[in-house]
Amino acid sequence: MFIPNSMIDTLFDYTALLKNEGALCELPENKYHQEVGIVGGGAAGVLAALELLKMGLNPVIYEVSPRLGGRLYSQPFFQLDDAEPPFAELGAMRIPVCSHVFFHYAKKVGLHCNVFFPTPGKEEGVIYYKKKLYEWHKGGAAPEPFKKLGILWELFINPYVEPVHAAWKKGDLETVQILWQSYIDRFKDKSLYQVLLEQSAIGLPENLDCFGSVGFGKIGLQPFFQFSFLEILRIVVNAFFSNNKKTAEGNSEFVKRLYELKVKTPQGEEVSLADRQAGRLHTMVLKIDYNPQTKNPILIYKDAENKISQKEFNAVIYTGSMSAAHLLGLTEKTNSGVYLFDQKIRESVQKSPMFYASKTYICTKNKFWKKLNLPPCILSDEITNNTFFMDYPFTKRGVICLSYSLGLNALKLTAVDPEHRVIIFKRVLEEICSVANKELIPLERQVVNIDWITEKFQNGAFKISVPGSDTGQHALYYQFQSVLTPEDKGVYLAGDGICWSSGWVEGALTTALNTVYSVAKRMGAQIKGPSPLDQKPDLFTY
Ligand SMILES: Cc1cc2nc3c(=O)[nH]c(=O)nc-3n(C[C@H](O)[C@H](O)[C@H](O)COP(=O)(O)OP(=O)(O)OC[C@H]3O[C@@H](n4cnc5c(N)ncnc54)[C@H](O)[C@@H]3O)c2cc1C
Repeated sequence: MFIPNSMIDTLFDYTALLKNEGALCELPENKYHQEVGIVGGGAAGVLAALELLKMGLNPVIYEVSPRLGGRLYSQPFFQLDDAEPPFAELGAMRIPVCSHVFFHYAKKVGLHCNVFFPTPGKEEGVIYYKKKLYEWHKGGAAPEPFKKLGILWELFINPYVEPVHAAWKKGDLETVQILWQSYIDRFKDKSLYQVLLEQSAIGLPENLDCFGSVGFGKIGLQPFFQFSFLEILRIVVNAFFSNNKKTAEGNSEFVKRLYELKVKTPQGEEVSLADRQAGRLHTMVLKIDYNPQTKNPILIYKDAENKISQKEFNAVIYTGSMSAAHLLGLTEKTNSGVYLFDQKIRESVQKSPMFYASKTYICTKNKFWKKLNLPPCILSDEITNNTFFMDYPFTKRGVICLSYSLGLNALKLTAVDPEHRVIIFKRVLEEICSVANKELIPLERQVVNIDWITEKFQNGAFKISVPGSDTGQHALYYQFQSVLTPEDKGVYLAGDGICWSSGWVEGALTTALNTVYSVAKRMGAQIKGPSPLDQKPDLFTY
């Protein structure tokens, strides 16, 4: 499978920026130690802070929750006296090998990322559909009728994907661009369901239900039916579902280690964000205001003691979700009577749709499934959706994702408390594999659960495109290029909420790098070599 070095909507190769060890940009010396405000301490916020620190600036990260990491969230199972406590990945679980920026920094901080994510066919798997059990053996083809649907899907999707990949492989970006533009024109207003049906993509309409339940064997696609077909095509073209890995230490560790990483500043210091105490936890940004005299943004925030303060910065990077931005009032006028963003961006912030997901984990005494030869992945059309038995190398315990529920199922589950959910999920799993179910006894009765829809300052798992929303998405993505234009208020948007392929950490990280360049330019840096600011907003018309 071809793994591109960039993402289809920008064709910008971020690895070219990361070849040098030093700072991304050179600032004038009189700008050293200036503070930059960062809203959000997830992957995007912390990476942006690290790169700004390397340039000689003092980033200040405001994070409403008690921890850094955001949606890279490896929640340890406490109450166990293990030296290496097992953990539940509540946000990102699998990292696709096309996540070049992620792996670049993961290598720098010494994470082990070569652990395979349980995928049917790559390992033993089971599909439970309409109360019938289908086995999918390691190295083998999917069982019927999924095999047939898989072939139909490939026959449908490959004629779109293969010519793009063939041209991309040869470095013929002009052809890649022509092809992707033709897909945008054709599909930008169509849902996945509509395209599957109109094009008889998987044969008869009755096949849709079965296809919806287990998709092409990675995840059921039914929860995505109403969303944009282009979003799915993007995922396939960008190779996000090809060859997924998981981090042995947990994805939170990625952010923690970036925070603790010592870097060299132009002033000759060896310092980390942690040394500088750059993170302000339990601190909620209440508003982003604007000073028309200095033309600088102001953050108004409430700290852990509920004290409300404000601070003016030369620049601010906002990395929260667009739903959180809407509730924060980023689309309203500031106290000085001006808007922070133009109307197109304000509308896009308000309309940005979110996808729902919830996860429920337990931890078992040991990795029982290995001894009993049981499949580690179960896909089903029941409320559990996806069940995974996770084998993390640094723990002897079994980490069981009883359910990774998506869309309406996730919404439905918010009415039930986690302990009751375990009973519901076990009822389903008893039907599927009673031998495994007997072993699913939560150690210390601990259930770790998350509903992303009700998670504070998230309001959903990740942004997702609906038919027609890519024009707004385009405005959000390129907002970082407003630096030094008449629209520039010194506030730049980054993170998963504005990237092209949301729901993948790579998008969060690349948009963080975009805004690092915006801040540098605003501070008078000489920008040499390739820069995300060179990305062309007119590369594609949406
Ligand atoms: C269920 C789920 C599954 C996923 N699966 C995968 C996967 O398999 N592979 C993959 O690559 N990616 C996956 N992702 C996506 C990945 O987790 C995200 O792309 C990435 O973590 C987003 O990072 P971020 O910094 O942009 O946003 P976040 O991590 O959300 O960080 C934003 C931070 O801002 C804080 N914040 C918001 N508003 C304020 C405020 N007003 N004041 C102070 N702080 C504020 C929030 O608390 C949060 O910590 C998944 C995400 C979810 C939720």
